Amino acid sequence: MQVSAYRLQDQNRLAPVSPARAQLAEAIDSNGDQVLSDQEIFEHVQHGDEGCRGAGHHHNGDRTALVSEFKHTLIGRPNPAAAAYHSYEQASAELAQLEADFPNLCQRVSLGKTAQGRDIWALRISEDVTNENTSKKTGVVITGCHHAREWMSVEIPLHVAREAVTRYGSDDGATNRLKDAEIWVVPIVNPDGYEHSRTSENMWRKNRRPVEFDAMGKPTNAIGVDLNRNYWDGTAENERLYRPAGDSPNTSWDDFSATSDNPRKDTYRGPKGSSEVEVQSLLKLTLGHENIRGVLNHHSYGDMILHPWGISHQPTERDKMYKEIGNKMNAAMNNSFEVQSSADLYPASGDSDDYAHAHNLVPFTLEVGRSFQPDPSSIQPMCEKVGKANLVFIDEIVARAKEGTIPARA
Ligand SMILES: [Zn+2]
Repeated sequence: MQVSAYRLQDQNRLAPVSPARAQLAEAIDSNGDQVLSDQEIFEHVQHGDEGCRGAGHHHNGDRTALVSEFKHTLIGRPNPAAAAYHSYEQASAELAQLEADFPNLCQRVSLGKTAQGRDIWALRISEDVTNENTSKKTGVVITGCHHAREWMSVEIPLHVAREAVTRYGSDDGATNRLKDAEIWVVPIVNPDGYEHSRTSENMWRKNRRPVEFDAMGKPTNAIGVDLNRNYWDGTAENERLYRPAGDSPNTSWDDFSATSDNPRKDTYRGPKGSSEVEVQSLLKLTLGHENIRGVLNHHSYGDMILHPWGISHQPTERDKMYKEIGNKMNAAMNNSFEVQSSADLYPASGDSDDYAHAHNLVPFTLEVGRSFQPDPSSIQPMCEKVGKANLVFIDEIVARAKEGTIPARA
């Protein structure tokens, strides 16, 4: 009989853990007393598959915030902070409003439709955007919310889009930026997962597509693929970036690198590379437009600026360039972030930056903040701070494309 006997300290009372989370509670309850202490929850958050990159590498975390965020999922209630963050509908409406208000500067474009029928919206931003010559300008892509629960990663791209068009004409930097660049902003790569995280299970990470078979080929009712483990450009030579040598497809026993073939895991890579429409949509955008030279992905948390490789500790042939650009972005944020390679944090396969590096794009991942769903009071300051790093990134890519100090597309 599975009645949840587990309790946890919530405000000043012992609250019951949701019966749906009994298995999770059992894993967290290391001393077996059926009360989940803050310390037990924190240890799970630190050492479970709960970070952004994956297992076991969480520094810069705000213990109190992380524990309190996790309790919502354990108790089985939404996180009330959701009200202060844009919903998918609100974000979609805001992009439509920007297009209506600034028709010469931006267009809302659907990149694809999710399993639950939501559009993956992009805002294409450039001076004279309706003229097809815009696609001859240097292109950059800015994304948020590959991972459902990383709510701040939605707000920053939205802020960057809004500021890009509203400051045009009154601020020289903003005006020149839209003359020289074509900026694609995709604030919510994972709309289905994001809405699920907002309304029912705030610690949800993956998308919401039902998975049909597990790694052994048995039918499963598991849900969701980790979109930042699913990238593959479809070429044989880059398949190792999705599935490293030594990791076989039909078992999860040999999983490594914070990536799994088990569909019940938070870091499930999917049944095959680029199986997910969200990932297909992003690949079509970045590889399908010859003018795109840089990609900036937002995640949370950790206050880090990450560059390739994600899969290996080996340096890339362009580490000097990555450090130069990363350090400039960091300087715009008073050097409050750390610049490092993704693998130095922890190696993972199938991520959004490695395939991009292989195609000579310039990709970075920003891990913002100290928890997944920070107190709403930090939304505006975080957007202003990280927004500056976004502008440095765009301007660097444009300047370097002109100088020839970033490689030609491959
Ligand atoms: Zn993430």
